[in-house]
Amino acid sequence: MNPVIPYGRQYITTEDIEAVISVLKSDTITQGPAIKEFEDLFADYIGVKYAVAVSNGTAALHLCALALDVSKGQKVITTPITFAASANCVRYCGGEVVFSDIDPETYLLDIEKVKTLLANSPKGTYKGIIPVDFAGRAFNLEAFKELAYEYELWMIEDACHAPGGYFLDSALQQQKCGSGKFADLAIFSFHPVKHIACGEGGMITTNNKALYEKLLMLRSHGITKDQASFMNPLDWASSNAITSPDADYPGWYMEMQELGYNYRLTDFQAALGISQLSRINWSLERRREIADRYANAFKGREWLLGQSGSVPGHSYHLYIIEVKNRLGLYNYLRTHNIFAQVHYIPTHLMPYYKQFGWKEGDMPFAENYYKHCLSLPMYPTLSDEEQSFVIQSILKFYE
Ligand SMILES: *Cc1c(COP(=O)(O)O)cnc(C)c1O
Repeated sequence: MNPVIPYGRQYITTEDIEAVISVLKSDTITQGPAIKEFEDLFADYIGVKYAVAVSNGTAALHLCALALDVSKGQKVITTPITFAASANCVRYCGGEVVFSDIDPETYLLDIEKVKTLLANSPKGTYKGIIPVDFAGRAFNLEAFKELAYEYELWMIEDACHAPGGYFLDSALQQQKCGSGKFADLAIFSFHPVKHIACGEGGMITTNNKALYEKLLMLRSHGITKDQASFMNPLDWASSNAITSPDADYPGWYMEMQELGYNYRLTDFQAALGISQLSRINWSLERRREIADRYANAFKGREWLLGQSGSVPGHSYHLYIIEVKNRLGLYNYLRTHNIFAQVHYIPTHLMPYYKQFGWKEGDMPFAENYYKHCLSLPMYPTLSDEEQSFVIQSILKFYE
């Protein structure tokens, strides 16, 4: 039997391993210099002012929701076809998740449906929106930004699937996912199936300095060591009468000013991230080659109901086909050690969300998509032979 072909997997090189070992041998394995270095390199790559490394993509979403002051009862719009964390971050802060259906062609949040939703309620009903660059296809950030502006919504871009992805704006300029030009905040994940693997890890990007500073504090217990922002008086903090007008707070002093968390990334994970980031262009190119081969192999087949669009800027975290007899194909591929996967079970039909009244029939396009979708093996080290085997197995199943 051929070795297992999963739907996605990490690629760890000797250089990656050496980068991690070198941090492990250094003085600081957490809260050291590799974090800022990773943040700066990532921000450079994306073309954004600020980046904040965190322990995972879900923590990134939670911090974004906190930084935007999501609170009890506030309504936030997102898509049902995403990983549950895109919605859960609203719940962490007591907000209410409002799902809106996908466009059956792009699999992304349908902006027309969002417009209708917004237009049917008084302004101010909704506080924010969390669109997702699902599968690696960038949503039209420019159009969503206009809508967000009109209805005074904040926007978090869930770009977990799309580092290096872009869309073409109305002037046909490439606009990278997470660039901070449109969304207030964008988030990424460095889980091993994503483009950059840190084991666990995440990143938030923004051009907003105030949000950036808030995120830094929230990431680390709400504690600050910045003298200029201290709230307690200096004589109390130093237990000493002030003798000089420009006396400093004592070296040990810090303040917890907000309720924060420990959502830090370690330095050895950051080192792995830095090393992985250096190969991202190669890896994107390889993903696009694999996508082209799938697209050509399946074009016009009678059993094919849809497949990932070949649009410029797609970063192909996933390659999705919609097929007849999805369950049959899924099981058949497994008997050949090909582990295709389903992304995603619509979030609004998860038992947790059903308790809020969401039910079958609420999101017809998402639900129909879920009946047929299958994510095929897609990762840069998938060899041509392996991909041919996947393609041949699928064709054979439908023969
Ligand atoms: C992976 C993922 C997340 C969460 O990231 P973790 O690092 O696994 O916590 C959030 N949103 C989407 C769309 C994802 O794919």
